[in-house]
Amino acid sequence: MMAGDGLLVRVRPPLGRLTIAQAAGLAEAARRHGNGLIDLTNRAALQIRGVTEPGHRPLLEQLIALDLTDPDPARETRHNLVLTPDWSTGDDTENIARSLLAALDRLPDLPAKIGIAIDAGPAPGLTHVPADFRIERSATGTLLLRAEGHALGASTSAETAVQDLIALSRWFLATGGALSGRMARHKAPLPLTSGVAPASPRPLQQLLAQAPGPFHGIAFGQLDADSLAALTEQPGVTALRLTPWRGLILEGGLANPGHALSDPLLRVDACPGAPACPQASVATRDLAARLAPLVEGALHLSGCAKGCARPKPADIVLTGQDGRFDLARKACAGSPPETAGLTPDQILALLGKS
Ligand code: SF4
Repeated sequence: MMAGDGLLVRVRPPLGRLTIAQAAGLAEAARRHGNGLIDLTNRAALQIRGVTEPGHRPLLEQLIALDLTDPDPARETRHNLVLTPDWSTGDDTENIARSLLAALDRLPDLPAKIGIAIDAGPAPGLTHVPADFRIERSATGTLLLRAEGHALGASTSAETAVQDLIALSRWFLATGGALSGRMARHKAPLPLTSGVAPASPRPLQQLLAQAPGPFHGIAFGQLDADSLAALTEQPGVTALRLTPWRGLILEGGLANPGHALSDPLLRVDACPGAPACPQASVATRDLAARLAPLVEGALHLSGCAKGCARPKPADIVLTGQDGRFDLARKACAGSPPETAGLTPDQILALLGKS
C-alpha cells in the first residue's frame, strides 16, 4: 500500500520467526529497495517502509527467495496468522500453524483484515491481540476454536483444528461475513456447538518468561535495517521471533539490549510525524519520548487528525494542527480538544504537573 514515505510492504514470516539469514536478508532488502525503516505491527508482522515503485518487484523477488513471502499472491493473502511467540518445537501451536500453512489452498479468501490467532500454549496469551478466529486452550487443557465476539468456543483438537477453522471460515463467507468485514461484527448464529470457555489469559510477563530468549522492546515499534542486522549478531542469538507487543524475542539470546517490557516508552503510540509524513505539521516522536514517563496510561501523539498510530482512544491524545498540538483526554486523534494550540514546552509543563 502507498504511505507518505513510499510503498509499504508487509512481510509475514512463516511461524512469526526470522532465521539469522532471513533477518540479515530482510535488512539488506529494506536498505536497497526501501528507506531502511522497518515497522513491527500489532499482529506480529513487519512492514518495510519507503519502497520505490521500481524497487517493488525486485523486493518481492528477494523476499520470495528468502522464503519470507509466498510466490502465490492468493496464498500470501491468506497467511494472516499470529502465533503465541513462546511456542516450542513440536507443541500444538507449532503443529497447528504448520498444518494451516500447508492447507492455505483450502482456506477461502477472507476479507483483508480477518486474522487467525494460534494461541495453543498452556493458556491464552493473545486475547488482546486483534484476531477473528482463535485456537485456544481451555482450563482443563483441551483445545477450542473460538470466534471473536463470543465468550465460548467449540471443542477441537490438534488434529482437527485446521479442518474446523476452514469450515468456520466457509460459514463466515456463506452467511455474509464479507459484508461485516470482521467476525466481532458478524451477527449470524454460529454453526458450531459453542460450549467451551478459554482458560484465564496468561499475564504477558509470564508468557514472555516462557519464551526462548529475552524480549527486546523497540520504541514506537520501528527500527532501522542496521539495528535489525545488529540484533542477529548479539551473543547466542539463533533467530528472531516477532511479537505483537512492539518487540522481538531474541531466540537463544543472553541479554536484552533494548527496552524492557516495563519501559513507559513502549506504552506510547506516535506516528512518524513531520518531516517523515507530508500530512504532519508537527514532530512527534522526540516529544513522545519526553512525555512517556510523565503520563500514566495510554498516550498518543498524532501528526494530524488521521490518527494512523492508534485508531482507538488513549488516556491522553495530542493531535498536530497548524504546527501546534490539541490535547484531549480519553479520546481519539482529531477529537474535540480540551486545550488547543499548545507548544511542546506548554505540554511538558501541563502534563508534568498532572
Ligand atoms: S497520523 Fe497523519 S501525520 Fe501521522 S502518519 Fe498518519 S497521516 Fe501522517
